[in-house]
Amino acid sequence: MARIVVTGGAGFLGSHLCTRLLERGDEVVCIDNLITGSIANIEALFARPGFTFVQHDVSTFIWVPGEVDAVLHFASPASPADFERIPIQILKVGSLGTHNALGLAKAKGARFFLASTSEVYGDPLVHPQPETYWGNVNPIGPRGVYDEAKRFAEAMTMAYHRHHDLDVRIVRIFNTFGPQMRPDDGRAVSNFIVQALRGQSITVYGDGGQTRSFTYVDDEIGGFLALLDGPITGPVNIGNPDEYTILQLAETVLEVTGADVPIVFEPLPVDDPTQRQPDITLARSALGWEPVTDLHTGITQTTDYFRRVLGL
Ligand code: UDP
Repeated sequence: MARIVVTGGAGFLGSHLCTRLLERGDEVVCIDNLITGSIANIEALFARPGFTFVQHDVSTFIWVPGEVDAVLHFASPASPADFERIPIQILKVGSLGTHNALGLAKAKGARFFLASTSEVYGDPLVHPQPETYWGNVNPIGPRGVYDEAKRFAEAMTMAYHRHHDLDVRIVRIFNTFGPQMRPDDGRAVSNFIVQALRGQSITVYGDGGQTRSFTYVDDEIGGFLALLDGPITGPVNIGNPDEYTILQLAETVLEVTGADVPIVFEPLPVDDPTQRQPDITLARSALGWEPVTDLHTGITQTTDYFRRVLGL
């Protein structure tokens, strides 16, 4: 049993992570400014022993009284829709927020765990992407606010590791979906399911030939815990290597929901990566982790969730 701080703990991934940590007997201090996270995501956790919630913006100084064994830094808006809406906050939480979270871990002698991203690979020229690939990121484009903040966060984490001998872990997270996503999150999975359930057209950006590799949230969290408890620093790719075009994703959603709605094509956002697939050789060999949930099963479970929250 450990006492663990989760920044961004009321967000999509953070709330699943808090739940899994509590289930295995850890104490959790969840910190979130609720800019994109929500109390609804963690409502069920307040009744559990060992759960504390602090509403706070981690881009400003963080302090948690008492012993802390690990600081898991998950705070950041992460949807491309957020990149346009709140770019400065994203840059701040990736830079200042990471610095503060590292400072807390250092002061407590705690392990630090950084939620990084496949976005550090940008529009990748190497496919699939191994951790050794340095990426192809446009620093001044609209996605740069997220990509560069996370690249800085990785650099800062490694500097604390090398310079302060801090025990760290870095995960590179690939597209993850599942219950607790915001209906208005703006991402392909949530948009398509919500559109299908509401009888609206499915909005595919570009020609839909761009690819992503989608991981069901339960698998993703399993990978985080394996890395947290495991022997390696990383960065480690945690994602499902099954790669789909966005058009295939739209067709899967239509099949699962049974919706009879058209697919409409809209302009492709600037710098939208053309392909993305994790090379998970390292996760398999060093952590014994691999995903088990296929796209169809994951979309079915996520559709059930959206039906419930939208009352459809
Ligand atoms: N996308 C789409 N329709 C939507 C939302 C997204 O076609 O309504 C596309 C988007 O342009 C991208 C892919 O789906 O090519 C995945 O987008 P998402 O926002 O889910 O994740 P990310 O771009 O961060 O990988």
